[in-house]
Amino acid sequence: MKRLLLCAALLCGAAQAADDAALLAKARAIHDKVLTIDTHVDIPFDFGDGYDMMKPGPRRQQVHLPTMQSGGLKAPFLIVFVEQEERTTAGYAHALSQAFNKFASIHKLTEQTYPEQIGLALTSAEARRIAAGGKKVAFIGVENGYSMGKDLRLLDQFYDYGARYMGLVHNGHNDLGDSAQPKKNEPVAEWNGLSPLGKQVVARLNELGIMVDVSHSSDKTTRDIIAASKVPVIASHSAVMGVSVHARNMSDTALEALGKAGGVIQIVAFDPYLTVTPPEKLAAIAALNKEMGVSGPGEVEKLPAEKLATFEARMAEIQKKWPRSNVKNLVDHVDYAVKKIGIDHVGLASDFNGGGGIDGWNNAGETLNVTLELVRRGYTEDQIAKIWGGNLLRVMDAVQAARKK
Ligand SMILES: [Zn+2]
Repeated sequence: MKRLLLCAALLCGAAQAADDAALLAKARAIHDKVLTIDTHVDIPFDFGDGYDMMKPGPRRQQVHLPTMQSGGLKAPFLIVFVEQEERTTAGYAHALSQAFNKFASIHKLTEQTYPEQIGLALTSAEARRIAAGGKKVAFIGVENGYSMGKDLRLLDQFYDYGARYMGLVHNGHNDLGDSAQPKKNEPVAEWNGLSPLGKQVVARLNELGIMVDVSHSSDKTTRDIIAASKVPVIASHSAVMGVSVHARNMSDTALEALGKAGGVIQIVAFDPYLTVTPPEKLAAIAALNKEMGVSGPGEVEKLPAEKLATFEARMAEIQKKWPRSNVKNLVDHVDYAVKKIGIDHVGLASDFNGGGGIDGWNNAGETLNVTLELVRRGYTEDQIAKIWGGNLLRVMDAVQAARKK
């Protein structure tokens, strides 16, 4: 205020620029020091034999080694995700083969393709050691317990393959519990929370030392999981209802229970969760999808080149007319969660390659922008280190310490 009164407009501009440069330098110094963990990075839909997820090739490939390098993203959890399909023997078999395929591709990445650049971490100590050696760190998370069908024994195998967290549900209810987003033909609740098998899964994950992830669970399922788990749980990619209302966001009640139990919410850079998308925008996107014959996830990638270019140009127009959420919106959710449950219980996730990405953090190369906003809001280096991974590793350590020998 004083400065505004004292200096002429031109000088103020110069002073502002100097402030910005100082802030950026401070943010960069902190960012370089802390272990930046992003708890949710998908393997793109169109990956397959010979597909190289660390190359910038395919559309929506938001994370690869050069952008991780330039943006200072050090440690992504790579996600073994399966879409929720029919709960039949054939459906379970298909899901499991997809899951194994993704486990294998992550091992291939870290053990054969780029062993000098990125290493798989199974513990927090390994992660810190790999990062100290100048390499990127990969962790493995499982999204959607549908991949285990009803076979609890598979969880042991997931652990052996390196899974260190597992989310029980995705979009649509499954055998383990109710989803925050039921499919169109489904009732709001099928189990009224966690199913009996879901309870057994939580118990087995506790015994194995795999973190339980409540993201995508309904509010009741989330609270059931927190109550059932003997150790802290995580929300690997969620935002909060207190800032923006969305079925995928955590209610205050669930958030408080998560914090009280020692867990952590990883605030996700997913546009529709951070701010409410205007209905006009949703209608415009739906109309475009219909016109282009895009009916589900992964369909856009299959469009012929010319049609894809048209699709992207038209989508860019829509995004311009109704801008996406930005880094300030993301940090609004961080601020809220920190005020509600404390600095020790909040972290970050991108959901890159899975629909994530906002203005200012749309790929791994822009990761510094998040730290910059945290610094701008007054978070200290210690606090930023906690948000960028310290908290998550604390939970991982606690869960692994409780692993049944
Ligand atoms: Zn997800």
